[in-house]
Amino acid sequence: MNTVSITPTEVIEYLFCPRFIYFMECLKIPQHENLRYKVLMGREVHERKAKVNREYVRKKIGCVDKEISVYLSSPKYKIRGIVDEVLSLADGTMAPLEYKFAEYRPYVFKTHRTQLALEALLIQENYGKPVKRGFLVYVRSKNFLREVLFKQSDYENASKIVEEILRIVQNGYYPKKTKSKVKCVDCCYKNICV
Ligand code: SF4
Repeated sequence: MNTVSITPTEVIEYLFCPRFIYFMECLKIPQHENLRYKVLMGREVHERKAKVNREYVRKKIGCVDKEISVYLSSPKYKIRGIVDEVLSLADGTMAPLEYKFAEYRPYVFKTHRTQLALEALLIQENYGKPVKRGFLVYVRSKNFLREVLFKQSDYENASKIVEEILRIVQNGYYPKKTKSKVKCVDCCYKNICV
């Protein structure tokens, strides 16, 4: 059986604009020119390069063990991906940690929260341990460490996004445009996006 699963990159694409998924995955039109999107994905490359074993993180958050760059998949949640760090905490719970090539802001970006929540689901299913929090390291703010406490709604919202992406990929559903019109200005799909 062909089991489709969604990656964090696809979630980032979807959150940038749901129609990206349709044009890229259903119509197979590659994405080359959108400058804002390029910046977004360029950050992902920097984040991958920034992954280093930082011992201070372990001390700061009561981490008793950690695994680095762990590939996990979940047939139940239909997701797969590499988690930067899978942490085991002193209270018996586990947590994902992600490095972000970004500056600290007083709020958590939806893309970051969604990605962390999906990683939390991957850890829960693969390790059988509860996950109540995740961590973000902001590389461009001297590796500032932020704790993100999960609510049930975070898991529900992340699962809903995965279902919406699957609906597009598997059923060819044509999604609504992004609400942020500024993203359309330099979008390479703007001439076919009606
Ligand atoms: S033109 Fe706008 S709505 Fe259409 S794919 Fe590009 S960003 Fe999305």
